[in-house]
Amino acid sequence: MSLEIVHYNDPVLRKKGEKVTAFDAALASFAAQMIETMLEARGIGLAAQQGGRPLQLCVVDLRSVEADFDWKIDGAKTPLEIFMPMVVANPKITVARKAPVVTSEEGCLSFPDIRGDVARAETLVAKFQDQDGNPHVLECTGLLARCVLHEVDHLNGVLFIDRMEKEVRATIDEAVKALAKSTRAARSAPPK
Ligand SMILES: [Zn+2]
Repeated sequence: MSLEIVHYNDPVLRKKGEKVTAFDAALASFAAQMIETMLEARGIGLAAQQGGRPLQLCVVDLRSVEADFDWKIDGAKTPLEIFMPMVVANPKITVARKAPVVTSEEGCLSFPDIRGDVARAETLVAKFQDQDGNPHVLECTGLLARCVLHEVDHLNGVLFIDRMEKEVRATIDEAVKALAKSTRAARSAPPK
């Protein structure tokens, strides 16, 4: 069963995720729901907060994307089909100080139809655990790095609108306010 994707400005999106400590059947089931929800929504990433739970957990899948990016997982260029969709728990990201920064347009499943330019590091290294708790190291570039940075921001309660330049943020301000208003109205509506 897929999850209802939480929209801005639901308070759960601002919550820092708790560390995942139990790699059990309940976690596997929630991760599977997150993957299903992401694929249904044609997203390339989804954070636990967007499924209503503040956890250090996100899912990523770039199999369907034709974009320029590179990767190594645990030191090898394993085909995407083998390790995606990825379940990423407790990620720790390292960005080299000299890593180039690239500005590109981003969207977010919690902000339907809202897009804007965000500057992010072009390369990173992420240490994380899979849904069984096994540790991994992902080195990546391009869109995969951007996606991981976007999702890990979610896990810390940070949203892509927070990362936009003032001028960019201003161009979507009305749409963001309207979204917050409709989310508030939906939350306060009596249950059907
Ligand atoms: Zn997002």
